[in-house]
Amino acid sequence: MFVSRRLSLVLSQANKRQKFPRMFFMTQSASNDELIDALKRQKVVKHEDVERAMRSVDRGFYCPSNAYFDAPESIGYGATISAPHMHAYALELLRDQLKPGAKVLDVGSGSGYLTMCFAKMVGPNGKVVGIDHIPALVNSSIENVRRDCPEYLENGLIKLVAGDGRKGFLEEAPYDAIHVGAAAEEGVPPELINQLVNRGRMVIPVARTRNRQDLQVIDKNEEGKIDKQKGVGVQFVPLCDKDSQLGIRYD
Ligand code: SAH
Repeated sequence: MFVSRRLSLVLSQANKRQKFPRMFFMTQSASNDELIDALKRQKVVKHEDVERAMRSVDRGFYCPSNAYFDAPESIGYGATISAPHMHAYALELLRDQLKPGAKVLDVGSGSGYLTMCFAKMVGPNGKVVGIDHIPALVNSSIENVRRDCPEYLENGLIKLVAGDGRKGFLEEAPYDAIHVGAAAEEGVPPELINQLVNRGRMVIPVARTRNRQDLQVIDKNEEGKIDKQKGVGVQFVPLCDKDSQLGIRYD
């Protein structure tokens, strides 16, 4: 389906009029640069550092087929690569923490795309850990990163590990920024809050009802006090245990 630039602008205006806009745009572009141009026009990409990071990571390395459509896409094992506007939105929300040299944890790293964008933002003196509980997805994200920018794996700027991201990744904690790419259904895991530095920020989708999630922005101030803000309505796969994601039941 072709959606004109005009229609996608109308949709983005309609989104803006809602109190908690649903992050939904329908752009289909022919290249990574065109996609970022569209996200800029829609004012989802707002800052130069975010724009630079997203232009430097070609989604073609991370998406199975429709790399430049602004839509989520299945990557297998019950997971999706999130839509480009969601990636842009997360980068914008975390940009104050994504300074050169910062440490980042990407929980539910899936395809590895956003992990790579974080690495572009924090630069060679930073570190980004991507954690996903499906080992096959971790392996394919390593392959994706290797095709895109192998030196980031070799020099340790990016580390992709298998594990339950609800527990964070203590070995490299604390983190300046934590991004969670799957929706917490039983509240925000306390381990993740504990692994955030003072003045750090976490962005995490939290389920409100069965079909509704809010993207929460959690800030820890210089004294370690927590402030939570509810953001836009979103739709992410659940932050769960591995067997329930793979549909394995033991009863
Ligand atoms: N940011 C990723 C999103 C992938 S979808 C991308 O855009 O490519 C969400 C991911 O969260 C899935 O890969 C899923 O396997 C993972 N996930 C769900 N629950 C998890 C858990 N408890 N620990 C680690 N990863 C989890």
